[in-house]
Amino acid sequence: MKHAWLTVDLEEWYHLDYLKGYPCRESGVRVLPRIFDFLDMLDEEGVKVTFFCVAEIAKENAGILREILRRGHALGCHGLDHELLTNKDLEQFEEETRAAKATIEAAAGAPVTGYRAPCFTMERDKLEAIRALGFTYDSSKIRFAQHPLYRNLDLAGFEQPEDLVYREGDFTEYEIPTLEIFGYSIPISGGGYLRLFPFWLLKILLSLYAKKHENFTIYAHPFELTDMPLPLPQGLGRVTRFRCLVGRKRNLKKLRKVIRWLKKRGARFTTLEDDRRERGLA
Ligand SMILES: [Zn+2]
Repeated sequence: MKHAWLTVDLEEWYHLDYLKGYPCRESGVRVLPRIFDFLDMLDEEGVKVTFFCVAEIAKENAGILREILRRGHALGCHGLDHELLTNKDLEQFEEETRAAKATIEAAAGAPVTGYRAPCFTMERDKLEAIRALGFTYDSSKIRFAQHPLYRNLDLAGFEQPEDLVYREGDFTEYEIPTLEIFGYSIPISGGGYLRLFPFWLLKILLSLYAKKHENFTIYAHPFELTDMPLPLPQGLGRVTRFRCLVGRKRNLKKLRKVIRWLKKRGARFTTLEDDRRERGLA
């Protein structure tokens, strides 16, 4: 393996799409202040991460944003309020994204040039819009074989210099990989699957992946990096409850094992900003 990019969508547990419409915010329970165990683990492993922050929580977490930058990680934007891009028209998106960028920059005291769409809902016209707003890279492309039309970001005109990396001019798109097995795409790169699969199974899947790929992107969320109890709302279905809670307890340890496994196979962990710098793009 060549490159590994660990990315975190810096959002609260109540931003999960399944929890939309429930009064979760009002509980006052916040997972972001628990991110320090994760940050310490990264320091111990010498791994630098790209964080994509939801702008509406930037101000109340300004201290965390600054600490993230102080430890040498990169900070990008994950939308204003985690509403899916497919629910916004272009004009609204431009207006909100301009405000989101400014809000995060003010809280962090540093420029923000990276973007990840909530739930990977990026579309081509919105990709052009973020470029016009001064973003230089995005990481929202994911491919699902079972849904050929769904969420497959059109990158016509981009060249692909390397596995998972696309560029047009000095703008870069980083893909989130899936593993193709029997015509199905398994998103082994993060979220619920990383929590659900035991490490022995992840190792098998990652070995299969590494046979065909040289780069890997991982994504995680703060609620997956702590086992603090979440006050999930009454009336939430059993499947959704399982999705929210499965594997949280051991996930930080498992993530460390995945990091070590990738390092042993030669993968070098950098932020996406450092990767662009190494390619002479920033
Ligand atoms: Zn998200």
